[in-house]
Amino acid sequence: MKFLVEEIEQYSAAHTEGENELLKSLNRETHANVLNPRMLSGHLQGRFLSMISRMIRPDRILEIGTYTGYSAICLCEGLTESGKLITIDINEELETFTRGFLAKTAFNDKIDYRIGNALDIIPTLTDTFDLVFIDADKINYSSYFNLCLDKVRKGGFLIADNVLWSGKVVQQDIKKTDKDTQALLDFNRMVHEDGRVSNILLPIRDGLMILQKI
Ligand code: SAH
Ligand code: CA
Repeated sequence: MKFLVEEIEQYSAAHTEGENELLKSLNRETHANVLNPRMLSGHLQGRFLSMISRMIRPDRILEIGTYTGYSAICLCEGLTESGKLITIDINEELETFTRGFLAKTAFNDKIDYRIGNALDIIPTLTDTFDLVFIDADKINYSSYFNLCLDKVRKGGFLIADNVLWSGKVVQQDIKKTDKDTQALLDFNRMVHEDGRVSNILLPIRDGLMILQKI
């Protein structure tokens, strides 16, 4: 399901700051060399994440689901001088490609890239985060939210990607059979009903749930 008519999507992209050369080449090389390149945030969402990060000016960012590092780089654009981003991915096969790319960015010394299961790594983190980007396996979205909320400062933000799951969240027939869709329905309802956060679901790309800890 497309959320926007094609022309509007194109017009929006055409009137959004372009990707720099580095992000362009990461986008290109991911499509040429890596499985499932559709998972990469891409131009419009990447610029959105960058803009949000520049608004928040975070000192600590946590990203769950690095893939090839595209969203991590975009989020780093708003970090403070002393800021750091921790990003976690379970897929060790992506490590060489991703580390190679991150090394070419201005943010290499700000990025703490960890390989492993986020469910195991998050409880070991002692930082207080200003911004958390949840973008790993959909089945665990609710667990990630529950593991992270105590580590987010009051007034800090969590953003969860793909919460509309290509529109499957409103397609009744699929929702009974597909575990990922069910997990996202549960996540969206849970955070919507949670009085500790205020929430807005933005139908950008595949749906972004933005949460602020109150
Ligand atoms: N944030 C990236 C895309 C992430 S794709 C971008 O926008 O460009 C989702 C990633 O989550 C995949 O690379 C996958 O390996 C990772 N992942 C899946 N399950 C995970 C888990 N349990 N812990 C950490 N990472 C996981
Ligand atoms: Ca995503």
